[in-house]
Amino acid sequence: MAGIGLSGVTKTYPGGVTAVDGLDLTVHDGEFFALLGPSGCGKTTLLRTIAGLEQASAGTVSIGDRDVTRLAPGQRDVAMVFQDYALFPHMTVLDNIAYPLRVKRIPRAARHDRAREVGAGLDLADLMARRPAELSGGQQQRVALARAVVAHPKAFLFDEPLSNLDARLRLSARTFLKRLQRDLGITTVFVTHDQAEALAMADRIAVMDAGRIRQVGTPREVFGRPATSFVAHFIGSTPMNLLDATVTGGRLTLAAGTLPCPADLPDDTRVTVGIRPEYLTYSKDPVEDALAGTVGIVEHLGSSSLVTLETDGAAPVGVVVEEGAEPEPGTRGWAVPRPGRVLLYRA
Ligand code: ADP
Ligand code: MG
Repeated sequence: MAGIGLSGVTKTYPGGVTAVDGLDLTVHDGEFFALLGPSGCGKTTLLRTIAGLEQASAGTVSIGDRDVTRLAPGQRDVAMVFQDYALFPHMTVLDNIAYPLRVKRIPRAARHDRAREVGAGLDLADLMARRPAELSGGQQQRVALARAVVAHPKAFLFDEPLSNLDARLRLSARTFLKRLQRDLGITTVFVTHDQAEALAMADRIAVMDAGRIRQVGTPREVFGRPATSFVAHFIGSTPMNLLDATVTGGRLTLAAGTLPCPADLPDDTRVTVGIRPEYLTYSKDPVEDALAGTVGIVEHLGSSSLVTLETDGAAPVGVVVEEGAEPEPGTRGWAVPRPGRVLLYRA
């Protein structure tokens, strides 16, 4: 096992697109690390550069204490699981799982024994003679995982491995994959565009945008203290309220009301106020230090609802309200931030 280090890694494709732009990153030994970002931000390119499937245009990649920047993929001792699983269609499940051992020239009987053992651990024992086309999406995914595990790699590189599963299976696969990684203790880089997946699974998350990392932190840190309004907007199952405000006499003036300013800023400073809908408390009666509006859309989230307070001419304010406490649309409502939950970003 080993940590992964990236130093000044840049990848420019022959056409001129710089997909990864001078990126520094350390993934600790045994860590479950999520690379999170919107489509096209360079996640797959970065992962392929770690795997050696792409050559870095600049910078260095190390795995453990080895500089692997110029090594071929087969010499890096990492296993990559692709979004579409990339199983060999003409091979049986057994041969698919055993393939990395064949590459390592392990004798046939030994590699089949090892593949059966790993397959059994992933609930594939009865499917060993089938071909990929005869498997469900979830079964194909487990075969791809078994193939990744079989050769005891130093690290797992996962490129959105759950995105082709239906919603319910995706949730159980999350737990399964997390437990597998914990039991094996293998350093894992997990690429996803799904913030909920990253928050649920990762020890730490790097939020990427346009080939760069915008923030690295624990799920709690990136959720509770997003470093920029981009990260704030990207993380969270309900979008963070990002509201224009001006500082006046130590208070924030917003379209929907005024709030105490959490930082010492001069008058007339323009800021963007970030408050998560989960960190606002709803009131049907007027309160001080609150944002006011008219109740618009009420969206049911399950055990709670997202209430939208419409304000004249400015962005609406989202508030999460407990099930059963939802207000009537058209009524007046107030949203009070919890202490310490008002974040300020540069306007
Ligand atoms: P993500 O996985 O985050 O969606 P990618 O790494 O696939 O992002 O792509 C990052 C950028 O690099 C995009 O602008 C994409 O169009 C470009 N890109 C990806 N692969 C290639 C390639 N083989 N040749 C040229 N440009 C590419
Ligand atoms: Mg991708």
